[in-house]
Amino acid sequence: MDWGTLLRESVANIRQLSLHYPVEKDAAKVTRKYPMRINPYYLSLIKERGDAIWKQSVPDIRELEDEEGVPDPLHEENDSPVAGLVHRYPDRVLLLVSDRCAMYCRFCTRKRSVGDPFKRIKKEQVLKGIEYIREHAEIRDILISGGDPLLLKDEELAFFLEPLKEIKHVEVLRIGTRVPCALPQRITDGLVSLLRRYHPLYINTHFNHPVEFTEESRKACSKIADAGIPLGDQTVLLKGLNDSVDVMNALIRGLWSMRMTPYYIYQADLTKGTKHFRTDVEVGIEIFKSLKFHPSLPMPHFVIDAPGGGGKIPITPECGFYDVINGDGIEALNLDYLEYNVLKSGLEDARDKGAAIIAIELGSFKIEREDKEDKRVYELLTQYHPIYINTHLNHPDELTEDVKRVSSMLSDAGVPLGDRIDLIEGVNDDPKVIKELVLGLLKFRVKPYYLHADREEDGLAIINSLRGFTTGMAVPHLVVGDRIICPNYIEEKTDEKIVLRNYQGRTFEYPNALSL
Ligand SMILES: *Cc1c(COP(=O)(O)O)cnc(C)c1O
Ligand code: SF4
Repeated sequence: MDWGTLLRESVANIRQLSLHYPVEKDAAKVTRKYPMRINPYYLSLIKERGDAIWKQSVPDIRELEDEEGVPDPLHEENDSPVAGLVHRYPDRVLLLVSDRCAMYCRFCTRKRSVGDPFKRIKKEQVLKGIEYIREHAEIRDILISGGDPLLLKDEELAFFLEPLKEIKHVEVLRIGTRVPCALPQRITDGLVSLLRRYHPLYINTHFNHPVEFTEESRKACSKIADAGIPLGDQTVLLKGLNDSVDVMNALIRGLWSMRMTPYYIYQADLTKGTKHFRTDVEVGIEIFKSLKFHPSLPMPHFVIDAPGGGGKIPITPECGFYDVINGDGIEALNLDYLEYNVLKSGLEDARDKGAAIIAIELGSFKIEREDKEDKRVYELLTQYHPIYINTHLNHPDELTEDVKRVSSMLSDAGVPLGDRIDLIEGVNDDPKVIKELVLGLLKFRVKPYYLHADREEDGLAIINSLRGFTTGMAVPHLVVGDRIICPNYIEEKTDEKIVLRNYQGRTFEYPNALSL
């Protein structure tokens, strides 16, 4: 079935759902307040009542019993200079282009408006948002969201992307979408060939549980990655659904195997109607400490989106990389540069060892000769996916036209690109230099994964100068020795609440679930 048909055949009320499963009658009350939509694909993933798919999609009477939550916990509407545009951080905005989704997630932060027929987003409104962006030269990064932007038709999407692309100060476009997970059939060849006209374009999607990794979602993600679009994932920690070490490890591993960067793991927002999903902050921190991270593969930031609109504040605990001696299906390959024969034998070796994921640590983006011969390098890489390349660019002066050409060819060969920065005294230990480097890398479709520093305080100073002031995608994880360290943004922690400090030095309170 094509995606339009799937959407039309969605289960949109309790009566329709009861044709498939016995459902509590009370649930119908919920749909009067918060819409329901489960498309036939997502519905087919339900194996039994109450499983991870069910909990995300089937209305629950507890949605009406939440006394603590608030409709707009992140104060998005206060930070909206024009309707449908949130300008919270200096250099980037959130632009809402659609009010509909492939499914309505019960835990949604924008539950107050998504899917509400009285809160439709009109074309004129989005055009006003684009006008605002045009008039604000400090905006360099546009996060296109909704609802789900990919519920728009191809030509509607192009209608907004085209003027955004023309704005000189806009360097990066991002689309936030749940479609690769919730309606993978939407990722058509037509869509990806449209999207690839807008590089550097990033897609961040949203998987919450390994049962969402199916043949269809794999295919959708492959198409996106093959079009040279760097893919990231944002996951919400949800009680009784993915709040366990095993589930989260399987999730991260699955994301890697689908060429995705685990980007953010969110503590659930204080959205009214979602209380039954909220975990204790401490639970998330404990889980995070036990996750398996790999030094050549990307790892997520654990964040609380500050109630009241302070932005995303990391609460990532200190942790380490797991012991990779046994390989565990991940083979790391060290290469000085890409030379066809060396690469070929390395990849063959890795495959012989049973590698499920190959991570190449690459000394330099230099390619032996840039002629017809070297097309073979890119073609070879496409045969060994999932394959990651992690390079070592330390200074913005290294971001040359040659590096640009090679990184762009590698991306187009579907390889997610990362960078490991070494903080070196007198070379790049200046926040301005690192900022220029990381933002330049993102323009080249390279994500800064790790910053290695000899001294913790030097590294922390750099991270603090980036966090909030630039996109989280530009903020690497700090590695000192064998520890991964995040600056401490927690001012105070009691049984009742946790007090967080954002990048501007303002403080925000998040209640500890224990007290709710
Ligand atoms: C999440 C968010 C962004 C993007 O944040 P990144 O760290 O760049 O991913 C931008 N604006 C608003 C209002 C947001 O909530
Ligand atoms: S897809 Fe995203 S915006 Fe839509 S209901 Fe789910 S969480 Fe909300």
